[in-house]
Amino acid sequence: MRDDTCIFCKIAAGEIPSKTLYEDGEFRVILDLGPATKGHALILPKNHYRNLFELPQDQAEKAIVLAKKMALQMRDKLHCDGFNLVQNNEEVAGQTVFHFHMHLIPRYKGDGQKIGWKPGKPEEAELEAVRKEIAGEEP
Ligand code: AMP
Ligand code: ZN
Repeated sequence: MRDDTCIFCKIAAGEIPSKTLYEDGEFRVILDLGPATKGHALILPKNHYRNLFELPQDQAEKAIVLAKKMALQMRDKLHCDGFNLVQNNEEVAGQTVFHFHMHLIPRYKGDGQKIGWKPGKPEEAELEAVRKEIAGEEP
């Protein structure tokens, strides 16, 4: 499962060099070329899936297990103070490379980075309506 036009397919396959932190038969973990912080890395499956919507269940399970392993390794080796796991799906959500990847972002006190959103202030009824909508219950 591969897309010949996809740069992450080529990186995951080792055809384009990368700073690889970890590799197995199904995944490669590389340093991001535009890091938010020291150690910012990406988990790439070797197979091509556009994003989370296309990712098979078993790959999703393995990716999160690998994310945890890498987070612990980064805390141990880089002595980061915290950690963000970020994963963007589709352009509207900030995805720029359309091959599934998880961002592993070690955080350090005073690193000046910000990952966030502007919080809303919904009424209780609004929250309940959206809860029902997602759960598939009658309004
Ligand atoms: P996203 O916006 O979630 O699709 O993230 C894409 C990420 O890929 C960005 O953080 C880029 O810095 C990173 N990136 C793009 N091309 C490369 C590359 N050739 N090697 C390593 N990281 C890359
Ligand atoms: Zn790909």
